[in-house]
Amino acid sequence: LFFSMAGTAFVAELATLSTPPAPTGGTPFTTAPLPNDTILTMILSFPPVCLIVLCGASGSGKSTWARRHFRASQLVSSDHCREMVVDDAASQSANDDAFALFHQWIALRLKNRRLTVADSTALKPGARDRLITLAHAARVPVHVVAFDVPLDEAIRRDAQRVGRSVGEKVVTRHRATLEQALRELPKDQRLAGVHILTPEQMDSATVQTTPGAVSAPAFDVIGDVHGCLSELQTLLGKLGYSAEGKHPTGRVPVFVGDLADRGPNSPGVLRFVCDLVAKDLALFVPGNHDDKLFRMLQGGKVQRTHGLDLTEEQLLGMPEKEREHLTLDILAYLAPQPVHLVLADGTLAVAHAGIHDDMLGQSSDFITRFTRFGDVRGFEASGMPIRHDWAAEREIGDSENGPLICYGHTPQDEIRFINNTVNLDGGCVFGGFLAALRFPERELVMVPAERTYAQKRVHSEA
Ligand code: GDP
Ligand code: MG
Repeated sequence: LFFSMAGTAFVAELATLSTPPAPTGGTPFTTAPLPNDTILTMILSFPPVCLIVLCGASGSGKSTWARRHFRASQLVSSDHCREMVVDDAASQSANDDAFALFHQWIALRLKNRRLTVADSTALKPGARDRLITLAHAARVPVHVVAFDVPLDEAIRRDAQRVGRSVGEKVVTRHRATLEQALRELPKDQRLAGVHILTPEQMDSATVQTTPGAVSAPAFDVIGDVHGCLSELQTLLGKLGYSAEGKHPTGRVPVFVGDLADRGPNSPGVLRFVCDLVAKDLALFVPGNHDDKLFRMLQGGKVQRTHGLDLTEEQLLGMPEKEREHLTLDILAYLAPQPVHLVLADGTLAVAHAGIHDDMLGQSSDFITRFTRFGDVRGFEASGMPIRHDWAAEREIGDSENGPLICYGHTPQDEIRFINNTVNLDGGCVFGGFLAALRFPERELVMVPAERTYAQKRVHSEA
């Protein structure tokens, strides 16, 4: 889990110029000294699926803040639950029932892998424990946003709430409990992030749930890795990345999917890419192998074929704690990623098995299936998929005016550029090579497989 403290994720926003978002995730953002007139805006960075627990005194402005930054459907408020059970958002008479609904509502959203904001005071450790347990049971990370509003201001805000005011005594008691929480929260190892907001920061902070990496100056699109960690490290080194996956010029690796299966160290590859994605240092589109892995990790029934058996074995060989962390992170950071990306002002598109021009920027079950398996139109009696070569069939107008489409999925002996598309799957795991394409340079960088890890099947899913 990565731990991001508020205060380490600042971005300099000048009057006319804004720098790219700071990489978040624990490492302080260091840069040249800022000009005096720089306004610092705190960026709260959340993974696409998480539970965000608000924590603060009644009347401190939690609900108002949450409504500004999240969709109504993402907010679950204890006041709303009170209203649902006894028609009165301020009633304390049916607290048990209201909180039963509150917790159940949150649990159902997390089960469906939806980002959820728990809007209650969550001042007492027990209240937070309950929410953390619930989230971790659904394998969802927890972030806390605490509202450090001074007592006099909290009292003033509470008094404004006509008919809903809890009064000075209650707010004073809340503030005292909050002091304790503010001391405990940063030390709580169960939390993936703690963000403490002053009233000024409540006004100015921005919330980011999509990766900032999409606006990188340049990309290195990397083909199917399939557990070949050593080759991946060599390739990233050749591309100029540090061992931690950072590039001196802010370039971002984009993985075309199929990180695991068949290869020698799928957990190592997953751990590495997960950390980069969590820190907003890399992008990833899931492939068919990743999708199957996600379903397995969520307890779904999936056949352990095409190398998933080996991945499972490698995962089971890990220390239990490490495996649990990895599972949680894979589901939090990799599983929710979109199946295709359009980058560099629409000049680059990435999807695991490819994409049609008229699908770009859209989503549907059909598009998802296409990006996972390509243009499969039925099956032959033998079980062989009937595949169309969508890249070869790409319209001339789309090739000329559309993005360069980078994909993988089908291992190639040689990298093929056709109609402004490129398949980057060099079949590394089958003894081929791991390939990357520098964009916008359009240069190929390749690393040969250190050995043959698996035999190519005549008609495999991959
Ligand atoms: P909650 O109990 O923490 O959810 O607080 P609410 O969001 O319901 O806000 C309580 C009162 O404070 C309301 O009357 C809001 O209009 C007011 N309020 C909320 N946010 C702000 C803020 O940023 N500045 C000021 N001055 N008032 C606020
Ligand atoms: Mg509220």
